[in-house]
Amino acid sequence: MIQLYQPLNFLGMIYREIKQSLIDIEAMFAILARAPEIKDGSAVQPLALTGGTVRFEDVRFSYDPDREILKGVSFEVPAGRTVAIVGPSGAGKSTISRLLFRFYDVNGGRILVDGQDLRDVTQESLRAAIGMVPQDTVLFNDTLAYNIRYGRAGASDEEVARAAELAQIDGFVRRTPKGYQTEVGERGLKLSGGEKQRVAIARTILKNPPILILDEATSALDSHTEREIQDALERVSLGRTTLVIAHRLSTVVGADEIIVLEQGRIAERGTHGELMARHGLYHSMWERQREAERARETLKAAGEAE
Ligand code: ADP
Ligand code: MG
Repeated sequence: MIQLYQPLNFLGMIYREIKQSLIDIEAMFAILARAPEIKDGSAVQPLALTGGTVRFEDVRFSYDPDREILKGVSFEVPAGRTVAIVGPSGAGKSTISRLLFRFYDVNGGRILVDGQDLRDVTQESLRAAIGMVPQDTVLFNDTLAYNIRYGRAGASDEEVARAAELAQIDGFVRRTPKGYQTEVGERGLKLSGGEKQRVAIARTILKNPPILILDEATSALDSHTEREIQDALERVSLGRTTLVIAHRLSTVVGADEIIVLEQGRIAERGTHGELMARHGLYHSMWERQREAERARETLKAAGEAE
């Protein structure tokens, strides 16, 4: 019985994860359609960056007036540190990243970067300071070089190649028919989710922003690719203010603080060790993922034994 149960449980988990990434793709189209509404006020100044400290103060937000998504969220990412946000799908994690990038304005509370309210700085200067590796990277119907250089238009060929190397996409590029001049997108080479995400990481390395937002979607990838992307992400986030949103808890063990978001509220917060010792929501999420990983291994071993 237990042998049958484990694969079934495992399939259930895969289904939930695939469903989650579909929701995120929809959410992204919603952003693309709605984002340009935010306008700079008349008294805005360029963001004066000191270290890149990010602060959410009692932030409230709803997309639709009748349904509040964030219900008073407060946290700080000190300059150069990493804070992770975890929690069930629909909790409001990606919404937090969209608010920091100012795709939307908050309905209550405020968001500060180095003490400046996002509404008091130009959007251009804010977005120049933030690098976002989204869940779904959109590639242009152009060359690989163009797609990577998009991070910083003036970058040299050497800088593009170096960024690709750091993002661990250089090996892939070399294996394509025309290397960096290979056309990608609808009328060119199709890239896998992992390859696209590494292009996004290379872009972000070129952009070299003091603040990073990583909204992960590595759960749909095979574990080898996931490991590679994880390594690349860790390298990029070193010494930068980083907000990581993670489905897979094993990727945030080293964060300075982990915030467990549930239905728009912070349910728990602390380091991995503190949260495990609490035996609360984080602990049970961790145990559930461990169980799913074991099921995956069992299934893999069974497949290899055939
Ligand atoms: P998470 O990233 O934690 O899975 P999200 O922040 O993407 O959650 O979404 C939180 C809630 O907000 C969900 O219930 C989602 O359906 C809703 N939502 C997300 N984007 C929009 C949107 N553009 N319009 C209306 N509701 C949205
Ligand atoms: Mg999300």
